[in-house]
Amino acid sequence: MTKYEPVIGLEVHVELMTERKIFCHCKNEFGAEPNINTCPTCLAMPGTLPVLNRQVIEFAIKAGLACHCEIAPYAQLERKNYYYPDLPKAYQISQGDNPLCLGGYLDIETKNGKKRVRLNHIHIEEDAGKLTHLEGEGTLVDLNRAGVPLIEIVTEPDIRSAEEADALLRKIRSIVQYTGVSDGRMDRGSLRCDVNLSVRPLGSEQLGTRTEMKNINSFNFVMKAIEHEFKRQVEVLEAGGEIVQETRRFDSTSGTTSSMRSKADATDYRYFPDPDLVPIVVPVEEVNRIKAQIPRLPDVRIQEYVSRWDLTDYDADLLTNDIRVADFFEEVAARTEYAKIAANLIIADLLPGLAEEGDVPLQPEQLSGLSELLGREEINSNTGRKVMKAMVATDEHIDPIAYVDEHKLRQINDSQLLAEYVDAALQTSAKTVADYKRGKEAALRSIMGQVMRKTSGRANPLLTEEMIKEKIAALPDPE
Ligand code: ADP
Ligand code: MG
Ligand code: ZN
Repeated sequence: MTKYEPVIGLEVHVELMTERKIFCHCKNEFGAEPNINTCPTCLAMPGTLPVLNRQVIEFAIKAGLACHCEIAPYAQLERKNYYYPDLPKAYQISQGDNPLCLGGYLDIETKNGKKRVRLNHIHIEEDAGKLTHLEGEGTLVDLNRAGVPLIEIVTEPDIRSAEEADALLRKIRSIVQYTGVSDGRMDRGSLRCDVNLSVRPLGSEQLGTRTEMKNINSFNFVMKAIEHEFKRQVEVLEAGGEIVQETRRFDSTSGTTSSMRSKADATDYRYFPDPDLVPIVVPVEEVNRIKAQIPRLPDVRIQEYVSRWDLTDYDADLLTNDIRVADFFEEVAARTEYAKIAANLIIADLLPGLAEEGDVPLQPEQLSGLSELLGREEINSNTGRKVMKAMVATDEHIDPIAYVDEHKLRQINDSQLLAEYVDAALQTSAKTVADYKRGKEAALRSIMGQVMRKTSGRANPLLTEEMIKEKIAALPDPE
């Protein structure tokens, strides 16, 4: 596997949070009773006509601008013809040769550094209905989703690992959330991803034959599918075989892929301009008006955080993924000079348990207060995390200062008081002291541990360590 590299391009579908569907007046909502949000148009009754929802164009342009795309001077809706039970018209209205947003790119941050992934284009299209297969009893169809607006973000094959694909998807999710065009929730199918993957010998510039894995709906499955498919293709090639261009199904239970069908070429879909829909021409003033509505995006904030608060790119990326967290961090940073301490607490103890929806379970004053206590060394870092966890765990508004005082958690910085604890520990540790003097560094930790236990973890660790070393140095050497 080390002789090959995977080459990956993603096609990411994002459901837009418009109020209405793309070509009719039906409500666009998740989780309604099946087939409630339908009408003759999205049920594809004869004689009905589509009317394009202006908000879809606005949302798609917003997402496109946030992805550094150019807005096409001329875009067209086309019919993509195929038959499937979730597609009552037997064609999907989509875009072929003239998509709404052209080019663009997204910068991602991985453990190996920064990377730019180019986009080919972003186009708009309608979603299909949802099928539910019942074991032995047939299939149910729910057309609430038929006609829900989608954008499809198509990348160039610039991605080289599962980790990069994951970072790109997270970047897309944060951008659609920042711009408010989608909730970006993979668990609800608002964000779904087709993975195209080929392999080639390291150093080769040529693209290999690719397979496509459709409609993967979790970050974890995307990574698993890539890892498995990369390995499978390398094994085929190493055994002297050939990769067939095909669509493969990813089975999340076994973590493997299997052949579904040979891939249809674009010509098989007989794309042609939908005669019921006029071309889309967006005036520059309109594009500018939409541009003005876009909030400060993650990339801008990352740069700011790095230069103003001395955060690493990686940490700044973590803080900006979710706009709720980024906004919260900025409110905290406006209240304290110890923003970096606040950032570390957010990353360690707020992000891991943060729910997908709802407010950040903390007020900015709480975290700025805690950061001040830490920054002024009134509590030590272990205590800091203890208080942070307590504040995050409850809806009650815990005041960090009151909490620290109530639980007697203030750090002991008084050297006279510390000296008493250190002396006591040294007196009962003659052997450990001797070990340390003979060069056993670890012995220090055991003495440190005693002082921490006696002070309920409140001793200033740096002062304590210094003091222990000094006092031991002053003791006579062992025989
Ligand atoms: P199609 O029209 O068949 O959907 P596209 O050229 O639009 O094919 O590409 C679809 C996706 O597949 C894009 O994300 C692209 O980057 C990716 N892709 C194309 N060729 C390859 C390849 N050889 N290896 C990996 N990914 C590829
Ligand atoms: Mg395609
Ligand atoms: Zn409808």
